[in-house]
Amino acid sequence: MPNRDMTAACGEPGAAAMDACATDAAFESALVGELGADIVTRSADIDPHYFTAYNEAPGARPRALVRPRSVDDVARTLALCTKLGQPVVPQGGLTGLARGAVALGGEIVLSMERFAGVESIDAAAGTITVRAGTPLQVVQEAAEAAGFTFGVDLGARGSCQIGGAIATNAGGTRAIRYGVMREQVLGLEAVLADGTVVSSMNRMLKDNTGYDLKQLFIGSEGTLGIITRAVLRLRPKLASPATAMCRVVDYDAVVRLWDRMRAVPEVVSFEAMWPSFYRYVGSHTPDVVAPFAGEAGFAVLIECATSAPGGDAAQTLETCLADCFEAGLVDDAALATSERQARDMWLLREGLAIDALPNLVNFDVSLPTGELGVFAERCEAALRARWPDIVCLFFGHAGDGNVHIGASLAELDEALAHELDRVVYGVVQAMGGSISAEHGIGVLKRPYLACTRSDAEIGLMRRLKAALDPHQILNPGKVL
Ligand SMILES: Cc1cc2nc3c(=O)[nH]c(=O)nc-3n(C[C@H](O)[C@H](O)[C@H](O)COP(=O)(O)OP(=O)(O)OC[C@H]3O[C@@H](n4cnc5c(N)ncnc54)[C@H](O)[C@@H]3O)c2cc1C
Repeated sequence: MPNRDMTAACGEPGAAAMDACATDAAFESALVGELGADIVTRSADIDPHYFTAYNEAPGARPRALVRPRSVDDVARTLALCTKLGQPVVPQGGLTGLARGAVALGGEIVLSMERFAGVESIDAAAGTITVRAGTPLQVVQEAAEAAGFTFGVDLGARGSCQIGGAIATNAGGTRAIRYGVMREQVLGLEAVLADGTVVSSMNRMLKDNTGYDLKQLFIGSEGTLGIITRAVLRLRPKLASPATAMCRVVDYDAVVRLWDRMRAVPEVVSFEAMWPSFYRYVGSHTPDVVAPFAGEAGFAVLIECATSAPGGDAAQTLETCLADCFEAGLVDDAALATSERQARDMWLLREGLAIDALPNLVNFDVSLPTGELGVFAERCEAALRARWPDIVCLFFGHAGDGNVHIGASLAELDEALAHELDRVVYGVVQAMGGSISAEHGIGVLKRPYLACTRSDAEIGLMRRLKAALDPHQILNPGKVL
């Protein structure tokens, strides 16, 4: 039976308790005493998976790993950690791309992986209630089985958790149709640093009863509270999508094509690949034959899907593309005729092949759709002025103004990496864009937050942080 009386393990709460828990052994005993040995893994026994950020070498070993099975476990962990002044890193599926879910040194990691599962689906309301540790794909599958579609999809669907996706306000490939994660959340439950459970599990589309508290936690990357449960919106079930790849002459043509396609209600995704990116992935993606291989021009992936009874997304897409061809908007187009072909088109767009480039640094920025072409030109020119041989590849969710940049230098050290950041974010700042469209700030973009946010905005963020987490135990060193 866990011992809820901290005095037994660590002396009196407060400063005395912090002193008594200064050694790792005393601290581990305090945690085990409070939560039980089943919930706590001692530092030396933690699998490196829990301190390794996506695509990186293992980082700092946490002081302990806590894997709660209930909201009460989360609340008791945070109450204890506040009492002891012990920093905590909330952790989901570890697919985040800003290094926000790993310890920097001295923290415990609180993994939500055991608090998972769909609690209920309300078909009349079109909502699903889930626990934070539920993988996104499980939510998608549960929605499908109940005759619905979940509005967010992204490449890490099998590993990322719904709590992590909410904490990072994930975007993904359907944002032009359904919005980002923020738009899917109706209700939220979170545990504050002092262990208070704030359950705002609203199930209605309309709820204008004072401050919208759930918004504090969405996109705050575990710095204001730990998300434990959520009520999410469901959408009418989409029939199988139709996918096409088009070739257009330049970025202006991408924008004209988007202008035409955005009026088509069936359009779910509108993704652009700049010529050098397309050439690279076209020749480096195993077992995939790229349409228009080796040719110049931008490639645009368009996906349409409909929930209308009797609707035919493939027919709609084909008719639209024929119109665009007639109007001179597209030079060429390939409509996928099998799931395999559609998957291959997405494999090209996801661009995992570029991960093999030496010293790859990824950027995820946003600007209004119409300005992405000029941005890419200015960004590439600024990078080449400093590193003439740099490889820089642009691709992304053009329909919502989000572009990813893969930059690769033959040699890279920390100083050069920061210089690279400053060049890219300098162009973003000059054009009034955002340095993080969908991956968050975490550790990697923390030094550059002021490129996008004003002093007054950052000041207000600090005041919120101080109000909700006065002892700074929640994910210190991240975001702010
Ligand atoms: C192949 C691939 C494709 C991707 N595609 C996209 C994409 O298209 N769009 C996009 O937006 N992102 C994308 N991502 C990034 C990533 O998948 C998302 O940010 C994801 O939603 C993070 O979820 P996670 O559970 O892995 O969170 P983690 O990586 O574990 O954590 C991310 C952050 O959230 C915090 N956190 C996690 N769980 C909680 C919780 N319960 N309460 C409070 N804070 C918490 C962590 O402390 C950390 O700061 C992609 C990643 C990969 C690897």
